[in-house]
Amino acid sequence: MAHYLSTDIKFVAGIGPRKAEILNKHLNIFTVDDLLHYFPYKHIDRSRIYYVHEARADMPYIQLRGQITAFELLGEGRKRRLVAHFTDGRSFIDLVWFQGHRFITEKYRTGVPYLVFGKPTAFGQRLNIPHPDIDPYKEEAVQQMGLMPYYNTTETMKNNYINSKAIQKFIETAFGAFSQYIDETLPPHIVQKGHLMEKREALRNIHFPQNTHDLQRAQYRLKFEELFYIQLNILRYTRHRQTRIRGFVFSKVGDSFHHFYEHNLPFPLTNAQKRIIREIRQDMANGTQMNRLLQGDVGSGKTLVALMLMLIAQGNGFQASLMAPTEILATQHFHTITEFLSGMNVRVELLTGSTPKKKRDALLTDLLVGNIHLLIGTHALIEDAVKFQNLGLVVIDEQHRFGVVQRSKLWQKNDRPPHVLVMTATPIPRTLAMTVYGDLDVSVIDELPPGRKPIPTIHQYDQKRAELYASIRKQLEIGRQVYIVYPLIEESEKLDLKNLESGFEAISEVFSEYKVCKLHGRMKPKEKDEVMAQFARNEAQIMVATTVIEVGVNVPNASVMVIESAQRFGLSQLHQLRGRVGRGAEQSFCILVTPYELAAHTRKRMEIMVESTDGFAIAEADLKLRGPGDIEGTQQSGVAFNLRIADLARDGEILTFARRMAEEVLATDPELSSAESLMLVRQLKKLKGNRYDWGMIS
Ligand code: ADP
Ligand code: MG
Repeated sequence: MAHYLSTDIKFVAGIGPRKAEILNKHLNIFTVDDLLHYFPYKHIDRSRIYYVHEARADMPYIQLRGQITAFELLGEGRKRRLVAHFTDGRSFIDLVWFQGHRFITEKYRTGVPYLVFGKPTAFGQRLNIPHPDIDPYKEEAVQQMGLMPYYNTTETMKNNYINSKAIQKFIETAFGAFSQYIDETLPPHIVQKGHLMEKREALRNIHFPQNTHDLQRAQYRLKFEELFYIQLNILRYTRHRQTRIRGFVFSKVGDSFHHFYEHNLPFPLTNAQKRIIREIRQDMANGTQMNRLLQGDVGSGKTLVALMLMLIAQGNGFQASLMAPTEILATQHFHTITEFLSGMNVRVELLTGSTPKKKRDALLTDLLVGNIHLLIGTHALIEDAVKFQNLGLVVIDEQHRFGVVQRSKLWQKNDRPPHVLVMTATPIPRTLAMTVYGDLDVSVIDELPPGRKPIPTIHQYDQKRAELYASIRKQLEIGRQVYIVYPLIEESEKLDLKNLESGFEAISEVFSEYKVCKLHGRMKPKEKDEVMAQFARNEAQIMVATTVIEVGVNVPNASVMVIESAQRFGLSQLHQLRGRVGRGAEQSFCILVTPYELAAHTRKRMEIMVESTDGFAIAEADLKLRGPGDIEGTQQSGVAFNLRIADLARDGEILTFARRMAEEVLATDPELSSAESLMLVRQLKKLKGNRYDWGMIS
């Protein structure tokens, strides 16, 4: 009977063709089914009525009962406003409108009982309620209003009289006419196992909840369903990759690896590095195509792991490639790796946007005939002109900096996809890893090389410049180097650059006996390289920079990281920046500089940085504080945004359960070919072509 639900919404009483078109365009709602799945973003308890004297400016909203005693037009010009004096019989509060005065005075009367709902707002010393919702007061109506759903709308929609209330009304009508056709969309055994509310009841209670308990059960059920189908989709895709796509078999470790291990390795590997290399080696030898995420905190030694894996590829007769997000980082990898491999018969080359044409042409020829074994580079590697003879392994460093499209292009460099390893030092919280990167296997380097000292982190206020400079000076005097980082946010790049410039001037003046250098994204690659090299050679002691230094830069003698306007950075980004120091044996410090006035959650973020040096704990905290939309690595995928009801920051447990259920389903019916799975296939199809097509997300 489900096909009734595909009825066009224009046939729902009260909607009609014109409003239907707006709903199509603005909310992507076409059918009754879509409409019933348009969930409220919040519910407000409107069963409670307050006294006027209970109103406070910090209340998100208040509901009052009473009457208007008089209307009054006040102020001139832009300040002109309509004020209604409202009383509950004990005290007074003003209701205020800045527009629509005629409409209001015609619609509402004095001396009639009203229910008023709105946000108390401070206006000078007094409170008022701007643009409140007003309904005639009826006792039954209040009871009925109970938990009131709120639906997102756009400006255009509101201008066409489609506000949250109107949507609620549409849904009510649709539900009344079609609820008998709402079928269960989860297999019975799962509904049972999870003690889930039935689909029809869940829809009823998400839109018209009678009490909080039912509302919560409805939310749980709908969140579960959403996450379950995502997981089923991802797991099915992963299985497909594992069974249908044949991967290159690296059957041996090979001579290069052995040689490197015995003669070139400058320090013993950490246990975590050993474990990961073993794990990945097996993954590249078992006939499936590897698609793996390697997470490891800043400084955990991922580059070395990547190198040793590339040597395995080379030892098996394949080429390997390492892609980094910035030219600085690619160049640095090139130097590090060349040095690591000194004396060995492995040809490593660097290809970036600033590789001169002549050199580039020669490189491309050599690459195609297989004379180059390891190619390191930036986005330049993705270009179609870059063709390998037989690319066997691709490593992508700091992969959160790359978009999905760029990554999949690298995949396609061969007829058969190479093994892919993506690395990140921005730990991705578990719940995100399961969705955004759900089709990747995950390895974690959970150990730092020995001798690393934790980096004490200090939160300091802007005003205390003298103290800040004193700490910096102390480090300079014992021969260390210092980074001073300014935020760079694209929209206001000009302003940021100005901050950087004036910071640079101030610092140069204060520390005139030292050499200060400057690095930012607007500089030419060659200039950047020169500055980096200068700093690495200790020819400059202070580097004033934007976040271009965030990823991977390695200057062991630098021991202080000062982050200006630290409140403007995400936690994971701060952690990355902090990881730029503490790379040598010396004690290092990180100083977060912010204004004194900070929002509570911003202050909390600074506290977390001061207290924790664990990248994973920080990433989890970041997710909780800012929501998944702001976590690096999710923007490009777009997935985290598109959830209708589940919230990756909060619904970790539901997600885990949903994944387990999806695994169980696939374990018993891998192809989803049984009769019971018919429903699953149908639901998955609905997701496809919809906004949830996760086909190939990594
Ligand atoms: P990240 O994981 O942040 O990319 P890197 O690969 O840049 O870290 O490594 C950080 C530093 O640690 C480098 O200087 C590297 O040479 C060094 N390193 C890597 N592995 C070890 C090890 N097992 N013992 C000591 N130092 C190591
Ligand atoms: Mg790195």
